[in-house]
Amino acid sequence: MSSSRHFVLSFFGPVVAFGAFCGFVGLIWRWLEHHQIPPLVTMMVGGLAAAMATRWFVRNCVPVRCPFCGGKSYEIPERGNRFMCRVCGKDH
Ligand SMILES: [Zn+2]
Repeated sequence: MSSSRHFVLSFFGPVVAFGAFCGFVGLIWRWLEHHQIPPLVTMMVGGLAAAMATRWFVRNCVPVRCPFCGGKSYEIPERGNRFMCRVCGKDH
């Protein structure tokens, strides 16, 4: 995967996950109300958790192809859209 596609995925992945979770809460809305769980709170808290989990997953588990050696590189924490190659050690 190229770094630009990775960037798009890390941006839209969490948005899609949030939307999917909101849809899921919509499906079980009556069940939540029946069990005295506020659906809107569940939607916000669970949606945020789903978005953060997706962001974490893309960052740590989806490799970007190294332009120098073709190895797997992963995003460097705290540095937006910079990747460190696990094979040759270069960042790009
Ligand atoms: Zn490399």
